[in-house]
Amino acid sequence: MTRTGIGYDVHQLADGEKLIIGGVEIPSPIGSVGHSDGDALIHAVVDALLGAAALGDIGQFFPSEDETWKGASSSHFLADTVKRIGDAGFSINNVDATIILQTPKLAEYISQMKYNLAYSMQVDESQVSVKATTTDRLGFVGDGSGWAVQAVATLIV
Ligand SMILES: [Zn+2]
Repeated sequence: MTRTGIGYDVHQLADGEKLIIGGVEIPSPIGSVGHSDGDALIHAVVDALLGAAALGDIGQFFPSEDETWKGASSSHFLADTVKRIGDAGFSINNVDATIILQTPKLAEYISQMKYNLAYSMQVDESQVSVKATTTDRLGFVGDGSGWAVQAVATLIV
């Protein structure tokens, strides 16, 4: 039996913040505002995994008001989530994600993001897909005030 979950995350972009996507620090004058490292890719993947297992959502397990997670690397969230999913009897079939960001261009960093996600989830890179798109300058992504990530995860029982 397989189960599918969806994840969606949005963060503001601001001057002087780091832009960390899938654990990769991208050179950029603007970065992601967040209580942790603002890594919306990992946050969306965590929510997709939790959703597929019907275990809840990221805010439940890693609340932003919890000082433990201030400035934390989101890869910890992902590793912890994968452990919870395994404990509940699920294994990961595949994860697919779309990063929605106007600038900078991400093409050269995608393979490292896939590697990092696969490593944190203890799966093969062939089970992880990461894509990137823009909004053709429309909306909050287009004007550079924020970015978003959508993710889907399929688990095997
Ligand atoms: Zn987030």
